[in-house]
Amino acid sequence: MTYQLIIKGGRVLSPGDNVDMIADVAIDDGKIVSIKPELGDDANRVLDVRGLLVTPGLLDLHTHVDFGMRTVGVNARGVNPDLIGVRAGVPTIVDAGTTGPMNFGGFRNYVIEKAQTRVLAFLHAGRGGITMEPDVRYEDDVNVDFFETAVANNRDIIVGVKMRLMGPGLQSLGATIVELAKSAARKVKLPLMVHCGDHYSKFDGAGEVTRAALRLFEKGDIIEHTYTPIPGGHLTDSGDISSELRDAVDRGVLVSVAGGGMHFSYRVAQTMLDAGIMPSFIATDLNSINHRQGCWSFTEVLSQFLALGFPLKDVIELATIKPALAVHKDDVLGRLTEGREADISILDVVEGDWYYDDIEGNQIKGQQAIMPKATIRRGEVISVDWGPHPWGWLPAPIV
Ligand SMILES: [Zn+2]
Repeated sequence: MTYQLIIKGGRVLSPGDNVDMIADVAIDDGKIVSIKPELGDDANRVLDVRGLLVTPGLLDLHTHVDFGMRTVGVNARGVNPDLIGVRAGVPTIVDAGTTGPMNFGGFRNYVIEKAQTRVLAFLHAGRGGITMEPDVRYEDDVNVDFFETAVANNRDIIVGVKMRLMGPGLQSLGATIVELAKSAARKVKLPLMVHCGDHYSKFDGAGEVTRAALRLFEKGDIIEHTYTPIPGGHLTDSGDISSELRDAVDRGVLVSVAGGGMHFSYRVAQTMLDAGIMPSFIATDLNSINHRQGCWSFTEVLSQFLALGFPLKDVIELATIKPALAVHKDDVLGRLTEGREADISILDVVEGDWYYDDIEGNQIKGQQAIMPKATIRRGEVISVDWGPHPWGWLPAPIV
């Protein structure tokens, strides 16, 4: 038969399928139909990817893509989903609660439905989500009935519940913020992601509130910004890991370490990694500001983990099957399986000398960087753009 597309000769690396081999991938009607060492070249298009990596579509579980929903100059921070999605080697992204029950309809109709990238979403438990900062000031800002209705109407793309422990609500409501979000999450039976780290007011009591809130987390809930150095993070004043964080991880609560250019400290990361508190998946927290400064791209964040000493296979696992499992979408995402929709990332692993700065002014160096070469979304080949740096996709070189 003549296939729609054959991706030829790449290193197919799919940790979720236990596959790491040189192979061809045949696609027809937007679906993966065969993965074999040699499939010939009888296809409408043959994409020669010898020397490149072929992985299940990368899945960035923390982004803000309410593109055009906020007024320019007034907190407009949503980035175009395709710019950090299919144009960056990432077929699927998850918006981390930028909108709430009151404005998810607009987000879905005018942004999500128009994107070529598959966009899933955490729905913020607060009425207007992050678009109407501060997200939560009073208990009334969480309306569980409205929340339930919004989820019921959008179950196909809402994969979790979001809340942030920061700002005036953190001081006025304390851990009650998380209690409110948890009651919403229980109603809809979805995982809760909570942002920890009060970069808004840098409230001194934030650490205590975070520790109280962590006791409410259940297995499968997500602690966000686990490696943050900002008040409300997880190290005590003496630099130890809080017992509440350790207990939560022992209960099966997931560890997210999205940095977004602000919430990643090598000092905190090393303390956590030495104690075995590993990321459950890798994500970015990309928005319209940090994709030009400090966070750059999903592949650059993955490269940073290579520089931290994570093997390539682990990094790909943490960017494909692991986030798919975290949002209970591993039946459709995170694997390269015959019969599935063909969402694939074509990547290059480039040798060199690069450096990565963190928010505390510390630096790490790496010798391998991942850069996107093309995205396959529903079987369609999409070119990546020029990249976030003036010189393109690769991280800052040591000169
Ligand atoms: Zn975020």
